[in-house]
Amino acid sequence: MTQPVSTSKVTGPTIPAWTEQPDPRQLLSERDPEIYAAIESERQRQTNGIELIASENYVFPEVLAAAGSVLTNKYAEGYPGRRYYGGCQYVDVAEKIAIERALALFGAEHANVQPHSGAQANAAVYMALLAPGDTVLAMKLDHGGHLSHGFHLNSSGHYYNFVHYGLDPETEQLDYDLIRQTALEQRPRLLLVGASAYPRHFDFPLLRAIADEAGCLLMMDMAHVAGLVAAKLHPDPVPYCDVVTTTTHKTLRGPRGGLILCRKEHARAIDRAVFPGIQGGPLMHVIAAKAVGFKLAQQAAFRRYQQQILDNAQALSDSLQRQGLRSVSGGTDNHLLLVDLNPLNNEAITGKVVETALDNASIHCNKNMIPFDKRKAMVTSGIRLGTPAATTRGMKQGEFERIGGWIASIAHDPKDSALQESVRDEVLEMVQAFPPPA
Ligand code: PLP
Repeated sequence: MTQPVSTSKVTGPTIPAWTEQPDPRQLLSERDPEIYAAIESERQRQTNGIELIASENYVFPEVLAAAGSVLTNKYAEGYPGRRYYGGCQYVDVAEKIAIERALALFGAEHANVQPHSGAQANAAVYMALLAPGDTVLAMKLDHGGHLSHGFHLNSSGHYYNFVHYGLDPETEQLDYDLIRQTALEQRPRLLLVGASAYPRHFDFPLLRAIADEAGCLLMMDMAHVAGLVAAKLHPDPVPYCDVVTTTTHKTLRGPRGGLILCRKEHARAIDRAVFPGIQGGPLMHVIAAKAVGFKLAQQAAFRRYQQQILDNAQALSDSLQRQGLRSVSGGTDNHLLLVDLNPLNNEAITGKVVETALDNASIHCNKNMIPFDKRKAMVTSGIRLGTPAATTRGMKQGEFERIGGWIASIAHDPKDSALQESVRDEVLEMVQAFPPPA
């Protein structure tokens, strides 16, 4: 294991330690009050409401400290030990630790911790493994996929021939027979799984068998469920996939960023695709923050936290179903649920309308298309709810039952602004007991 470098090894005049420096927040408030005010207002918003956006979380404070550190000053194009800049000895330490911890956390053969985001991680994989025009089989965006899985306005859709599979209309779950049949017909170079709005598990042994039969590579984008995978509370894609990509900031609770895990045989191609393929200098402060997040994700407390995320998602789904709101696919196996608003039998009640009504009550979520939705993406028949952020604040099943009650009453009558005001007061009262991590 690489040992962290002690500051005592640094040569030159002694300067005060980081912890002895003036408080940068204080400096910011004095020297740039406009930006400070925007940050402070956002902090208040994050504190005074209930965050149910499934892709959001509150980072560990240690992660925030590393992400706000002087490592942001350093250029380090290249990889540890092979940089195009001098003075990289300390950022090399941080990147090597991040890689070692990513490998230990997910049991992969190779890790690239440099992608600036999940979309960048995916773009790098496509560049590494595909030639322009190659066929990729991936999940439809309007059934829960992601823009970076071949949307026509995304670079993925521009450069590669994406063919999309949808969900089974009865079960609203992956239809493995359809995936197999399409893979055998289309003979893609890559079979891509993973989603932004899919509440069920993936059958990786079966997907591997399909990929082998069709003679293609298998990739999982586990951006949403990476924390659950790390905690071994979701089927593990790593043993079955050639490549696994993820964001580090959703269930994983690290800084905003991306990560690629792959088999050794793809390591060189992946590294070259990230740099110099699609990126320049890596964000060394974010890489250090990823390392901190990966360490915290290996602790027993993290596993308990992920279990609570799952328990809370069940409680929320049950509470909503009891009050006449249907969870797509009948429930959830993970941290999110998709709520179908159609059973309310009111044309005026759309995802857009309910999202706004809930926002007025300081309950934040996003409108989302449900599978086979008749409404457009800016209107939708559903909302997507996720439990990671509120679980980070310590909320448990009891709180989520209450949240379910508020959501159901507002969804049944989204025009009732008095109701939204009274729920907002109750929300404010409840969240006082659950401060976000400082
Ligand atoms: N992949 C999936 C499945 C996602 O849900 C997301 C983001 O929501 C991404 C990739 C993209 O991540 P980023 O926003 O960091 O580019």
